[in-house]
Amino acid sequence: PCKVYGVTGSDGKTTTTTILARMLAAAGKKVHLGGNIGRPLLPDIWQIGPDDVAVVELSSFQLEKVSSFCPDIAVVLNLTPDHLERHHTMEAYGEAKKNIFRQQGEVQVTVLNYDDPIVRTWGAETKGRLCYFSRKEKLQQGIYMQDGNFIISWDGKQETVCNISELHLFGGHNEENVLAAIACGFFAGVSISDMADVLRNFRSIEHRIEYVATIDGVPYYNDSKATNTDSTIKALEAFKD
Ligand code: ADP
Repeated sequence: PCKVYGVTGSDGKTTTTTILARMLAAAGKKVHLGGNIGRPLLPDIWQIGPDDVAVVELSSFQLEKVSSFCPDIAVVLNLTPDHLERHHTMEAYGEAKKNIFRQQGEVQVTVLNYDDPIVRTWGAETKGRLCYFSRKEKLQQGIYMQDGNFIISWDGKQETVCNISELHLFGGHNEENVLAAIACGFFAGVSISDMADVLRNFRSIEHRIEYVATIDGVPYYNDSKATNTDSTIKALEAFKD
């Protein structure tokens, strides 16, 4: 009965979904967070009111069979080789992911990663309002990074949410997750200051480049949620030194 915001991608789903849920809660919304993140939403269905919001993490396994699913905002973070034992080809894997926006029309919003060479091309396929995000390029219309600032540029107006130096999150991959959450928060009506507050206080989620301890001068991190090659590469790249 309520607005539904869906997040998919090969990597970064849980991080992005969690940041987004916190932004919506900061804006005073009653948030139902679930899906692939580990908590089914169906048992909640009778408790969900029309003014609540549902933030749903979606895997390709969940998306491959849907036919009428149409989130108010659909976010696609990236597409890198994963689960090919099931989907067999990258094309089939991509087709499953595209079901997140396939039923959308002009009143819904599709948020896509401009820096991902495959996901970027999907902008031509959605009928929803398209919002790209990029950490590499300044976008006329979209969410991007410049000098570490997270900037919303929409309908000729620019607003800075906050700077990466203010956050506890690190690594280029997390910049993308933050951009995606900002995009979704913006279209969901969260204020800039609520988004900034949440981002400034957000620390990594357990098992995701989670600091454990320093032993004999060596810092140890738990990144056991990096379950494919790309996420492991991204995690290693996050450690500049
Ligand atoms: P998912 O829910 O899609 O598995 P998570 O947010 O749980 O993603 O992150 C899992 C791991 O994937 C992280 O520990 C990190 O190594 C890597 N990762 C997170 N975000 C991204 C991203 N946007 N792009 C690539 N790798 C990422």
